[in-house]
Amino acid sequence: MQAFKNPGRSKLPNVGTTIFTTVGILAKQHRAIDLSQGFPNFEADPRLFELVNKVMHEGYNQYAPMQGDYSLRETIANKIEKLHGTVYHPEMEITVTVGATQAIFTAIAAFISPGDEVIILKPAYDCYEPAIELNGGIPVPIQMGLNDYAIDWDALKNAITPKTKMLVLNTPHNPSGKVFSKNELQKLETILEPTDIIVVSDEVYEHIVFDENEHISLSQIEGLANRSFICASFGKTFHVTGWKVGYCAAPSELMKEFRKVHQFAVFCVDHPTQKAMNTYLQDESLYLGLKSFYQKKRDFFLNALNSSRFTYSPCEGTYFQLLNYSQITNENDEAFARRLIIEFGIACIPISSFNLNRRQDGVLRFCFAKKNETLEKAAEILCGL
Ligand code: PMP
Ligand code: GLN
Repeated sequence: MQAFKNPGRSKLPNVGTTIFTTVGILAKQHRAIDLSQGFPNFEADPRLFELVNKVMHEGYNQYAPMQGDYSLRETIANKIEKLHGTVYHPEMEITVTVGATQAIFTAIAAFISPGDEVIILKPAYDCYEPAIELNGGIPVPIQMGLNDYAIDWDALKNAITPKTKMLVLNTPHNPSGKVFSKNELQKLETILEPTDIIVVSDEVYEHIVFDENEHISLSQIEGLANRSFICASFGKTFHVTGWKVGYCAAPSELMKEFRKVHQFAVFCVDHPTQKAMNTYLQDESLYLGLKSFYQKKRDFFLNALNSSRFTYSPCEGTYFQLLNYSQITNENDEAFARRLIIEFGIACIPISSFNLNRRQDGVLRFCFAKKNETLEKAAEILCGL
């Protein structure tokens, strides 16, 4: 096709194709074992498919309510109250979204105007900054510590200016696998107390925490809950990332503005999926059991790496494990990740692109939401390096 002559200035001049797509394509080309993008390579529960099929035959094939199916919103509200003790009104304070990505984008679009500053903690999942920039906002990155991914509280305090409108937090954290403690969140609560800063809390891995770690939702911390959008993903929780369904919970004054954007960005979310999710969510063991399911996978993967030269601390949450490769090579992470695909047939994510100034942490991110046989084959290759 002939090139369009004058598309004008790009709104996102520095944005290319996401690392997940780039690595995914390379992995396919080289038929590599793919532990890069975060999605399961095993099937979800067939009962979930039957439920969707059933509600399609029952006639739920037209637009769902703009805010989301009401019974699903009620179920979500009950789940949050039971797990975190916080009451969100299903009518005014919960909206079903096209995955967490849309929840995050919508919250940012609803509140960020040109010149507003948004604090983000690096390494940061890649959808926050473009959403901020697209709305004229200015991302203010705070780099977390090398190895421990600890927050530099003084840097965070110093980053707050009269222009700071929002802060984005992600716990359990992708890509580091860190789970924020209650103590850390209380520190954040104290810092934000004198401000009007809104928080977007990305909690898509809320049910995937290991060992003695506990997921503390920002909805549990009063001084954070009253200023936060809690964003969640059923795709992550129920092994159906391709269904793109999630939700957002926030106090009604915030949600009112959120819905002004939501109704014109997507209007509503796939109806049969919402109906099916509502029935499926009634059995809480299906999401409460996720941590032991994934802990077994994490441990299986790490045990299989026993004889490798990679070093690591077992991740606290998420289904990502960082492996430090400094005993193997001093290449940068992108070059090494590329070589792993092309020469060794294994794909993972270099995390420097999520860091400030592409800091080199000497680690690669491996997704262990995979069949054990895949993890075994992957570990075999990794042990040979
Ligand atoms: N936030 C984080 C930290 C993620 O890893 C992902 C990837 N799934 C998302 C948000 C997006 O979630 P969803 O697929 O529900 O849009
Ligand atoms: N959340 C997934 C990951 O971190 C990626 C999803 C995507 O490609 N947008 O691997």
